[in-house]
Amino acid sequence: MKQTTQLQKVQENMRPGVISLHGFLGDDTRNLVDILIEDNAEVKKLGVTHRRISDKMRELRENGLSGLGEYINVSPHFEVKVEDARGKLPCPFEHPGLFPKINTTVRNLEKNKEIIYTDLNIHLIEAHGFYEGRGAKYRLEPAELVDILEV
Ligand SMILES: [Zn+2]
Repeated sequence: MKQTTQLQKVQENMRPGVISLHGFLGDDTRNLVDILIEDNAEVKKLGVTHRRISDKMRELRENGLSGLGEYINVSPHFEVKVEDARGKLPCPFEHPGLFPKINTTVRNLEKNKEIIYTDLNIHLIEAHGFYEGRGAKYRLEPAELVDILEV
C-alpha cells in the first residue's frame, strides 16, 4: 500500500544506523504501512488489542524491577529479569523524549518459553501498534507475546 510522506519519513528513521545500529526493520522489504496493517490484523485475530499486550508487558516489567538485574519469581509461574543496558533511544515515530535501554526477559515456566523486550518495544506497541520488521533484532511476534505472557 502507498504510504504517507510522514510514514515514509518514519520508515527512513528505522533504517540501520539512523536511530539504532541494527534498525527496526530487519530484512523486511514491506512498507511500514503494510507491516502495521498486517500486525494489526494479526492482533485482532488473536482476540486482543495492542493496549492489552503492552499493558501486560509493562506489568511484568514493573514486577521484575525489584530483582535488580536478576531473575525473580512473578506469580503465577513467571521468572522475570529486568536489565538496564544503559543508554537511551528516541522513538522513530518522532515522539519527544527518550526511552531508556531496559531489557525485560520473561520466562514462562509452565510453557518453558521465554521472550525478551525493551522499553521502546512497549512504547512502539502501545502507541503505534508496531512490533518491528521481520528479521529485526527486537521483532516481536504478536502471537508469541500473547502466548508466553498470557495476555
Ligand atoms: Zn512513539
